[in-house]
Amino acid sequence: MRWCGFAMNRTKRIEAAARADARREREDSFPRLARELPGLEALSIRIAEGIPGSITEHVRHVMVASAPALFESRCATCSDGVHDYTDELLRALKSRSTPATGESPCNGLHAAGPCTCVLRYNAIATFSK
Ligand SMILES: [Zn+2]
Repeated sequence: MRWCGFAMNRTKRIEAAARADARREREDSFPRLARELPGLEALSIRIAEGIPGSITEHVRHVMVASAPALFESRCATCSDGVHDYTDELLRALKSRSTPATGESPCNGLHAAGPCTCVLRYNAIATFSK
């Protein structure tokens, strides 16, 4: 039994590491934010995510110099869904619209049906010129 538990943990660790690797590779495959949005100096995104009655909020301070032009986050409600708001937010920031707000549904599927979690963002950008 002990060995079983150990094997499980080990598998989970390997899976987590593989996920982290895959994420890094995916992030590396995107252009840098600084190149996509010349003049962008600072970007912070207030995020409210969840299902009605259970919303969590946090602020993401984006490292403009090194961050990939990729705005997505793993769904907090289901384990395999992703909120991807890259295209919308890039488009808004390219037109220098700030704050840029929008929402992104989760693309995950539960056994019971599609995940109903929604992410709402409010991105505040500072441009140098
Ligand atoms: Zn979800």
